[in-house]
Amino acid sequence: MDTNNKPQLTIYNSHSRKKEAFKPLNSPYVGMYVCGPTVYSDVHLGNVRTFIAFDVVYRYLQYLGYKVRYVRNITDVGHLVGDIDEGEDKIAKRARLENLEPMEIVQKYTNGFHDVMRIYNAISPSIEPQATGHIVEQIEMVQRILDNGYGYEVNGSVYFDVVKYNEEYPYGELSGRKIEDLLSGTREELEGQQEKKNPLDFAIWKKADKGHIMRWNSPWGVGFPGWHLECSVMSTKYLGETFDIHGGGMDLRFPHHECEIAQSVAADGKAPVQYWMHTNMLTVNGTKMSKSLNNSFLPHELISGDHPLLEQGYSPMTTRFFMLQSHYASTLDFSNEALQAAEKGYQRLMNACKALDKMHYDGDDNNYNQEETDAINQLVDQAFEHLSDDFSTPQAIARLFDLSKKINSYNEKKLDINNLNSNTLNKLKEAFPAIVFDILGLQDESASDNAEAMDGLMDLILDIRKEARDKKDWDTSDKIRNVLNTLNIVVKDGKEGSSWGMG
Ligand code: AMP
Ligand code: ZN
Repeated sequence: MDTNNKPQLTIYNSHSRKKEAFKPLNSPYVGMYVCGPTVYSDVHLGNVRTFIAFDVVYRYLQYLGYKVRYVRNITDVGHLVGDIDEGEDKIAKRARLENLEPMEIVQKYTNGFHDVMRIYNAISPSIEPQATGHIVEQIEMVQRILDNGYGYEVNGSVYFDVVKYNEEYPYGELSGRKIEDLLSGTREELEGQQEKKNPLDFAIWKKADKGHIMRWNSPWGVGFPGWHLECSVMSTKYLGETFDIHGGGMDLRFPHHECEIAQSVAADGKAPVQYWMHTNMLTVNGTKMSKSLNNSFLPHELISGDHPLLEQGYSPMTTRFFMLQSHYASTLDFSNEALQAAEKGYQRLMNACKALDKMHYDGDDNNYNQEETDAINQLVDQAFEHLSDDFSTPQAIARLFDLSKKINSYNEKKLDINNLNSNTLNKLKEAFPAIVFDILGLQDESASDNAEAMDGLMDLILDIRKEARDKKDWDTSDKIRNVLNTLNIVVKDGKEGSSWGMG
């Protein structure tokens, strides 16, 4: 295929633990599945990091000429609190707390998630399937696992038989765990574990108690699917029994992704994924950002700066740039200093884009400076080599900074742009904004045509204001209105909801 003569892409496959040349099963078509959010609360900045990382993967694959089908699910069947096979469904719990229907919770937080993705300029996936829309397929998969002898039914629930599976296939390969170690590490008796033959077994179908709101009929009685099942079903339904890339955060590698592999092999005899990719965690003072640890920021807190850990607000593109300055597989620690540096770095790139766009060229292809021309060609080529080296955005950005210095020197007439030949200048003019805007997905926040981002931001702000008003939290709703007024943005409240306009 034509990959614009770009270097061969290599991907670190967290299954083989090696960098491998990327060879799609059916080039130029690529199937990519990424585990999406569980929509029982607002997404936090850690979640955003993972989705931005895969947004760059999606963008770069497309830039290389691949035709990508990108599937990212919405988990709208609640995982159980504590992510064990017992406890209360997170969505149902939230519905009770907010006095809403579970599906209202799902809709509300799905909308919020979409707003956030739009603000951070993440492209929508090609398909965004919901777990509740695929219950029939999940029941069919449970049945295939049972038919093949890798599951057993107890009292209306169906469990995956990990020990039986491990007799024929290796369980634990993805996460590098051995079943013997796992078995010796799980001695404690959790409630409900007594139904299982073995503590490592996991529910693929769970009987619903009387109070469980999200429930469906099945051959085993009324219940709901196990945590890992939806991703196995929806990835293979839309991408085939074996597909190219499966992504998600590192915290999903075990047990979620390990169980996905086991389910697909047990049901259909095939390993589902060629390349497993895992993003590393966004941390705060070295600890994973997580809702349950109370160390998470919501995107609107980061934008407004309204959080005890924040010295100021940071714009969505500053944040996106901050995230891309580290490799997706490294941990990234949040700090005000790093974000403030990112703010400057992002601005430098925007300025270079503008200067390059306006650059006047009057060179002569018969009389140019070979050394200067080679230097530019080399920096551009290196930026692509880094991107093709497991999406190494920090190194690619370092080359963009080198190029920005050159562009500034041309702009300030310290170097003469006419020393370049026209091919090289055209290559620079094409590649620099392509990497900045199309591949890294940055936007010029100062540009007047940035109305779309502004719309997304205002949707989010008005949603938050509505929530505050619904809760009669007048302090917050007044604060939002006042800050908007100082920015010359006027909010009008009508019967159909609130709208906004420039004053
Ligand atoms: P969840 O809604 O908790 O299933 O998370 C959605 C996605 O965000 C998953 O791929 C998680 O692995 C990822 N994620 C959760 N916390 C973090 C974090 N602190 N840093 C990066 N990714 C995260
Ligand atoms: Zn998943």
